[in-house]
Amino acid sequence: MTNKDTIIALATASGAGAIAVLRVSGPKAISVSNTLFKSIHDKNLLNQPTHTIHLGHIVDVDRVLDEVLVSIYKNPQSYTGEDVVEISCHGSSYIQQEILQLFIRNGCRSANPGEFTLRAFLNGKMDLSQAEAVADLIASDSAAAHQIAMQQMRGGFSSEIKKLREELLNFASLIELELDFSQEDVAFANKKELEILVQQLQLKTNILLESFKLGNVIKNGVQVAIVGKPNAGKSTLLNTLLNEQRALVSEIPGTTRDTVEELLNIDGVLYKLIDTAGIRQQTGDVIEQMGIDKSKEKIIQADIVIALFDVNTATPEQIHTWEKEIGLDKIILVGNKMDLTTANIVTNFNNFKNIVFISAKDKNNIEALKNAITQKVVGDQLKKEGTIVTNARHVSSLKKLLLALNDIETGLIQNVTGDLLALDIRQALHYLGTITGEITSEDQLDFIFSKFCIGK
Ligand code: GDP
Repeated sequence: MTNKDTIIALATASGAGAIAVLRVSGPKAISVSNTLFKSIHDKNLLNQPTHTIHLGHIVDVDRVLDEVLVSIYKNPQSYTGEDVVEISCHGSSYIQQEILQLFIRNGCRSANPGEFTLRAFLNGKMDLSQAEAVADLIASDSAAAHQIAMQQMRGGFSSEIKKLREELLNFASLIELELDFSQEDVAFANKKELEILVQQLQLKTNILLESFKLGNVIKNGVQVAIVGKPNAGKSTLLNTLLNEQRALVSEIPGTTRDTVEELLNIDGVLYKLIDTAGIRQQTGDVIEQMGIDKSKEKIIQADIVIALFDVNTATPEQIHTWEKEIGLDKIILVGNKMDLTTANIVTNFNNFKNIVFISAKDKNNIEALKNAITQKVVGDQLKKEGTIVTNARHVSSLKKLLLALNDIETGLIQNVTGDLLALDIRQALHYLGTITGEITSEDQLDFIFSKFCIGK
């Protein structure tokens, strides 16, 4: 990893657009740009202050490639912490490539995926979890995913981890000080306080780990299965939810329509409807005799299951079986075809919690169903303060941290010597450091940043 060379990449999406932005970063960014850019006011880019924009042409010897705007950011006041030049050119793929190649011929190198952000990390502009959030932000496709990535990028998660780390570091130094003075039998660290701190850290770590359940589904979309007997109204409900009428619904079980994965956005969270082709084809989806064998796979795969039944024919006993087989944490019971019945049929199902009555056909009470879905998946967690973990790498570090904290706790109970205690504390500090990148390896950085897009 060397920051000595100057890198260039297209920062905007590839393909034609109104405008494209090429980003150059490194020690020669301004000087190379100055050679290839002819300002309309004859400005020398080397003499321009940081955060300024200049109009001119990119010229390859005597051939004018494009009229462009060049923005200058001088180190360390840039995204990467190095000298950065951003060239806004006209967005034809041809122009983009010509300028890119021209800069490469003049001493720049084509950037690797995520290399700008990697440099930002290496130059201390952001920590590792913030850098990872940049990738999440670019990939976010719902309001909730965006909110979490934004919070992480702005350092919400990092500052929580840093706080934990500082508190523990304080103890580590006190205990190590004690070891230096071991002959003199002095105690700097208060073991009782350490015990309390470790318990607090365990609690916080557990809360963070717990938040991943939500964080993960928000980042990747919540998998939803709609199951129920043939003719319960699954297909009709699907259409109502998707707010489209183009799907075919018929009286005859087996209405077909090929379909791709269907997405639903409810209150800013993205839901992925599983096997909607199955629903429409009425195959492999049937809960025959209220047994769920054929739908099992789908139910296992799903984060939540909408168990749809016809209120006019289903019995409480059958519904009870569903609850047992699907599990209370996943199931949302939905009684359909309320338009064909009187409201008092609802009393048959009084014993069930998490139950919604709708008419899929008349689009009645669909909002209540959507609210029940949001409540089941998100609850009040997004409104609450506090960090939501979305990154599997962080989860792995937090799990190891928890084990190290447990070791400290056991050590304290067993009254082990200070040097052993210090070792366990160092271990816990290590895992905290891996999240923010205080402790990292080249392999790990390669792995993380290779998942970025080029130009970021
Ligand atoms: P699926 O086999 O579970 O996918 O059921 P469909 O969605 O194909 O619906 C079967 C039949 O029930 C169709 O004739 C629908 O029009 C009808 N149906 C679905 N939902 C309702 C509803 O809420 N009220 C009434 N009256 N009929 C419905």
